[in-house]
Order: sequence, then C-alpha cells, then structure tokens
Amino acid sequence: MRGRMGCLSAHERLNHLTQFADLGLAKPLLKALAEKGYKEPTPIQAQAIPVVLQGKDLLGIAQTGTGKTAAFALPILQRLAENRMPAPRRGFRCLVLSPTRELATQIAENFKAYAVHMGLSVHTIYGGVKYGPQMKALAGGIDVLVATPGRLMDHMAEKSASVSGVEIFVLDEADQMLDLGFVVPIRKIAAQMSKNRQNLFFSATMPTEIGKLAGELLKDPVQVSVAPQATTVERIDQRVLFIEAQRKRPLLAELFADSNFSRTIVFTRTKRGADRVAKYLNAAGIEAASIHGDKTQGQRERALAAFKAGEMRALVATDIAARGIDVNDVSHVINYELPNVPEAYVHRIGRTARKGKDGIAISFCADDERNLLKDIQKATRQTIPSFDRRNDKQLAAAAAVADKLVPAEKYVDPRKADPRNDVPSELRRKRPRNRNGGQGANGGGGRNEGGQKAQGRGPGQGKGPGQGRKPGGPQNEFRGPKRQAAPAAKSWSPID
Ligand code: AMP
Repeated sequence: MRGRMGCLSAHERLNHLTQFADLGLAKPLLKALAEKGYKEPTPIQAQAIPVVLQGKDLLGIAQTGTGKTAAFALPILQRLAENRMPAPRRGFRCLVLSPTRELATQIAENFKAYAVHMGLSVHTIYGGVKYGPQMKALAGGIDVLVATPGRLMDHMAEKSASVSGVEIFVLDEADQMLDLGFVVPIRKIAAQMSKNRQNLFFSATMPTEIGKLAGELLKDPVQVSVAPQATTVERIDQRVLFIEAQRKRPLLAELFADSNFSRTIVFTRTKRGADRVAKYLNAAGIEAASIHGDKTQGQRERALAAFKAGEMRALVATDIAARGIDVNDVSHVINYELPNVPEAYVHRIGRTARKGKDGIAISFCADDERNLLKDIQKATRQTIPSFDRRNDKQLAAAAAVADKLVPAEKYVDPRKADPRNDVPSELRRKRPRNRNGGQGANGGGGRNEGGQKAQGRGPGQGKGPGQGRKPGGPQNEFRGPKRQAAPAAKSWSPID
C-alpha cells in the first residue's frame, strides 16, 4: 500500500488515512477484515464503500490490484445483511458479472472471506464445467452469485436461473467484457432485471462503447477513480538481458539455477510458446506449467493452485491469462519475449511487487526486439539497465543441449507475429488499426482467453440464448458477437 501513496492526489491521501470502521462497516465485516490482515482501506475502498452503502449507483475506474473487489463486496454484503430476506428460487439477490472464470473464482473467494461471520451464501457460475451442480446451487436461491455472462445466459435460457430478483448488479472489468464480445449478452441479461436495482460498474479504461453501456445501465452514478498501478514500475528492479533469440532457453535455465527464483511468472507472446517454454523447463528439471486460453478450466486451476502453493517454481503465461491472477509474493517476472505494446510490459511486471512489496523483472531482448524495448523505455520514461549476454560460449553449448531436450520452436520474428496474441484490449488500444494487413485490433479467428473461439459473426448474427447450445454440450460458453467481423480463417497467423 505504501508504494501506491506516491501517486495519490491530496484527496486520495486524505481518504487513505480513513479506517474501515470510519466507513460505516458493520462488526462482522470489520472482524473478517481484521482476520484477513487488512489494516486500512485502499483509496478505491475509502471512496466507494460509503457510496455503495447509501444505495447509490457507482462508476469505478480502477483495475485489478487496487482493492476494487472489496470496494464493492464489503458494502454489498452489509446491504444484504441489513435487509435479510430469502433469495428468490433459482435467483440471487446480488449478481456480479465477471469476464473470466479465474476472476469470477477470485471475486467469490473474496466475498466468502468477507462474509465469513454473516451467514450469506456465495456461489460461482462459469463455463467449462458441468451444469448439474450449478443448477442445484441455483435451485434454492443464492445471496451473491458471481458469474460469467455466457454460462449465466445458458442457465437463463434453460430456466434454471432468473435475474428478475436481482437487487444489486455489479459489472466488473467492463472493458474486458467488451473485448470478449460480452456487451450484447450483458445488455440481454440487464434487460431481464428489475429496474429497481443498484448498479455498480467497474472498468480499468473507458472506451466509447463501455461509456455508452455505463450510460445505459447506471442511474446518476457517483464516479470514483484511482491511479492505475503503472507506478509499481518504480518499485521493481528491472533489467534487460540482450541475448540471441535461439539462446533464450539456456539463459532461462541459468536464471532458475538461482533458488531465489522461487515463484516466477515467465511471459511469452503466444500460447504455443508458453507450452514449449514450460515443457523445456520441466525437461530441465524446473517444475513449471503453462496457463493460457486453450487450457481447460481444470488445467488452469491446477496450475494456478500448484503455483500458489509453491509446488511449482515457474508459471509460463500469456498476457490475458495473467490477468486477474492474484498471486502473492511473486519473486520474479521474466519476459521471455518482449510484448508488442509497452502497456503490456507494465502490466506484466506488475505481477510482482504487489501490495507494496519489491520485485524483480528481467526481460530477454533479441536483436529484433530492440524496437520493442525502445518503445517500452519511451512509454515508461526510463532506461532499463541492460546486460549483454550475446556471444556467450557456455550459453551456445547449452543451447545445443537444450535443442536436444526439447526441439526449438520455429522462430517467429516479433514484427511479423500477430500483435493481437493474448494482449488484452486496453493494452493494445494505441495500435494503428490497419497494422497487420489491415485487421482491426479485435479481429481474427483465434481463441480468446474466455475460452471462446472468436466467431466470424458480425453484430446481430450471434446465437440467441440457448440456441444450438445444450447444457453439457461441447460449446458451454456463450459466444457473443464480436465488435468486428473476423477475417477469413486463412488469414489467421499460424503462430497461434
Ligand atoms: P483487487 O484489486 O480487488 O484484486 O485486490 C488486490 C489484492 O489486494 C487482493 O489480494 C486483496 O485481497 C488485497 N486487498 C484488498 N484490499 C486490501 C486492504 N485494504 N488491505 C490489504 N490488502 C487488500
């Protein structure tokens, strides 16, 4: 927390001195917060909690890591507890929509921890898992439901869920919802809710379409915003290692020879690249797993749990997969490949140095990544200390051994790589639209991280709820229409 103070306005600093008890939170919540070890509210909490407790609509501009989940979860729980009533059958008193399964799980875990002394029920609903247990949980009614839009729409279509009794509606990470094609499903879900509800809307950025959605859903909202986490950059010890592209793997193994690399996230540009790096690390005796949008829910959960439990030293991730991952004490972030946009660099290295701690970020830079490095240094207004590891004979010999362990990946020139690969929307918004053969930033037929295959359907051509999708069937996530029609499959880059 301390590290964030540097970027706060005077108003925010004042708020920062507030105690949870000053915000009007009830005893069971204060007890839970003390048990969690939270000492003081974060700026978004200090600003948002009183507003939500008053029943007002809220527009929060904040990203993961700012404490935004507690900013809405705490006052929601209090409001539900103050006006206790049975949840409607197949319904829920509070609905939180989350773009990804990981975030949904994390939000629900937070709610459960805060509600521990309150006797309120909290459940999650998302795709990629069986319908039966979800239907059973829904049947009796739930106080707080955290859901991804696709699976919720499936349940609504099957009449196993109804949103008509929702008293408080939260839309989290709205900008990512837009990227995953969820804006139309959100409108459909909202249309079935009672108008007489409280709405909370959170987004890290405010693209036009999200601003429009906020305008439709919110009534006289109070707007609160906090500085993005970009300032964590200052607390992170950053280094660049210049290295030949084909010698990155032995260099990675060399780093892991240091036991201080105890909980390290390695970033690659592509999903396939993540798999190969993880495979290589395992072959080299370093426990690792990859996490990206092509992995099943079970695989993702197992990898994350093992990483959190310290059973695995390395998690190899793509940009979107790393979103919402809230792992404490990440010792190092390694950029095995530099991202195509500088904002993604800031986002990646921010996985370490969380909660006021320090962290180390090491970036490999091959010759053809120099321009990417230049962009990053310009955007973050810093010169990152660099070390030249090129022409290292030991690494050259180790590279030959590495190639035998796991055959090297076909090299992809970063300038030719598809820039959309696993880079979240707001991190690529500054790209010229016609780069990469005229494709818009969101076009393409690759898989996105919600686990959905992007469809070549234009707006209005998406399937309606329930159409062609049977519970338990192979397509168990809603595939909402994308903002732009996707290009023909043959134009998709083979690297992804
Ligand atoms: P969020 O932005 O909601 O993803 O929260 C980021 C992390 O900060 C989570 O691990 C929370 O448990 C933690 N957190 C939230 N509020 C506080 C607080 N007031 N004091 C300490 N940690 C917090």
